[in-house]
Amino acid sequence: MASQSEHQLGDFIKGRFLFIEEACKKLGRGAAEALLEIKEECLRLAETPERRAIIEKKLFGGSILSSSILPDWVDKVFLEAMSNVLRAPGASPTTTSSKSPCVAFEAGRFNAKRQAATVFRPFFSGKKPADWLRRDFPIIYRQCYGPDAAKSLKVEELALCRFRVTMDNRGLEKACPLDCSTTVGYLFGSLEALGAKDPVVNHTTCCLMARQGQDGLCVFELAWREENVPK
Ligand SMILES: [Zn+2]
Repeated sequence: MASQSEHQLGDFIKGRFLFIEEACKKLGRGAAEALLEIKEECLRLAETPERRAIIEKKLFGGSILSSSILPDWVDKVFLEAMSNVLRAPGASPTTTSSKSPCVAFEAGRFNAKRQAATVFRPFFSGKKPADWLRRDFPIIYRQCYGPDAAKSLKVEELALCRFRVTMDNRGLEKACPLDCSTTVGYLFGSLEALGAKDPVVNHTTCCLMARQGQDGLCVFELAWREENVPK
């Protein structure tokens, strides 16, 4: 059984590798060379020899399965390294809105769309965005962040096509501004996969990025347009 700081992150990690390939294509960069650079950056960011060994053997050892259980810090380090290597000079590493994407946002968006078509297909297939947010998103969140974090996840329906998602990041090793940026992307990509029209995701309160939200809560506001609304 996984300890508190380990979760079933294998598929997320697999998705990150595919995202790197995709991002390199768009950037006109060689993926193999970028991957080497990302590995070096991961090793630099890993704080101990034990962690560097896990980076070498597990993360870049080529044996990650969708069902692999990995420590949370692995994805944190991987995401940071990826962001450092792939982002344009001067570009912000983090974002609080789908209107201003960053590398971490695009990585989350990519994974949502990919998982919607593969491992999490049963949670997405034939679902309406509102139903997915009420019922399916909490299940996915539980799988990735664990039962304790899932207990404090709050999904509120504010109005038609408007939701507020509140997460409690206290005590979550994975939590960091980059992780929040990737969550903005994951929610946005999920809405896209569910066919929501003109989705917008804003991270309105972040306990990690600014001094706001001292209670440890991160708030995400989601909105999209209702279909078939006569103008
Ligand atoms: Zn946040």
